[in-house]
Amino acid sequence: MRFHSFLIKYGEIGIKGKNRYLFEDALVRQIRFALKEADGEFYVHKAQGRVYVDCEGEYDYEETIDALKRVFGIVGICPVVRVLDQGFEQLTKDVVAYMKEMYPEGNQTFKVEARRSRKQYPMTSMEINCELGGVILDAFPEMKVDVHNPDIRLNVEVREEIYLYSEIIPGPGGMPVGTNGNAMLLLSGGIDSPVAGYMISKRGVGLKATYFHAPPYTSERAKDKVVDLAKLVSRYAGPIELHVVNFTDIQLYIYEKCPHEELTIIMRRYMMKIAEHFAKEKGCLGLITGESIGQVASQTMQSLAATNAVCTLPVYRPLIGFDKREIVEISEKIDTYETSIQPFEDCCTIFVAKHPVTKPNLERIEKSEEKLTEKIDELMKTAIETTEVILVKP
Ligand code: ATP
Ligand code: MG
Repeated sequence: MRFHSFLIKYGEIGIKGKNRYLFEDALVRQIRFALKEADGEFYVHKAQGRVYVDCEGEYDYEETIDALKRVFGIVGICPVVRVLDQGFEQLTKDVVAYMKEMYPEGNQTFKVEARRSRKQYPMTSMEINCELGGVILDAFPEMKVDVHNPDIRLNVEVREEIYLYSEIIPGPGGMPVGTNGNAMLLLSGGIDSPVAGYMISKRGVGLKATYFHAPPYTSERAKDKVVDLAKLVSRYAGPIELHVVNFTDIQLYIYEKCPHEELTIIMRRYMMKIAEHFAKEKGCLGLITGESIGQVASQTMQSLAATNAVCTLPVYRPLIGFDKREIVEISEKIDTYETSIQPFEDCCTIFVAKHPVTKPNLERIEKSEEKLTEKIDELMKTAIETTEVILVKP
């Protein structure tokens, strides 16, 4: 079947009044962005409180659906056949042709749901329902009408043209990116942080990202992998400004001065501080990490508290109550898993102690950090000044 348009269904909650147009404009913008990845030309527009994607000429149906399935805020995607209004007689023929092609088995229950946005149309919605219902029953002797729980809901919308649709392909839900400000994702090369970014972005939040690398202990390929992950996440979240921070000197300095079992916690505290610096500079309203309680020594309740203590912005940890298995499931769904499991060294793992503290004491950690007073400010300043910013798009 050749579809000419897609009717985009979106959730109605919380989008009344002025919010509604902000929501719809963001949705239209994100749809246009996502469709750049699909083969074809599209006209995305709002009409009478709805959002439509009109397909101009040839296009790739699968790619188009895949792209729309990545736009947060979309609840359902309805492929539409548009026919010219050439009188009711012709409409009955078009409807039978539509039903034949969509439902060749011809044995389902159905209901016709007409709607007129062009009120001059010579029949009422009720009349259209009855007449078309009769025509379908005549053409398909094994079909039956069921007004309560039909297998097929045939929507007939009378607009300038007449729109026929009956399928709803589920969208990802959530809110369009751009309706809820921006947040700074601490993006590593692992499985968790890309999923964390995806989840917060799903609520309408635009992403920026910070990655800490430690050349020459971590390679250029480890960095490329993080850029690849950012690209995959940006298919959902839109363009991501990725800050690549050279963390080597800070790590070496902590390694030199602080107890080794506290390395990871202290390092993570400096990561948060630097990420927060860029977050504030870029107007982000929070930080995002892929942490989950108890996953590793640096994610016990005590460790999370110690890391959290340096932040003044809220830290969003959408995976906090997830098991690894549940996180992997999402990473497979959003296609980041295969990239995440590529084996490249991570800056955290290079300097890890054999027996890291699992119940760090904040006062003791702060005491240890006093040993860094001499040079740490200068090192932080240099790390910030030498940060490379990459604009990542799919
Ligand atoms: P992930 O799978 O996301 O790498 P992880 O299980 O390896 O997570 P940790 O290494 O303890 O866990 O990191 C916890 C969180 O801290 C990560 O989810 C990420 O948000 C952040 N993080 C860790 N390492 C880095 C890094 N090199 N650059 C940026 N953020 C990082
Ligand atoms: Mg990691």
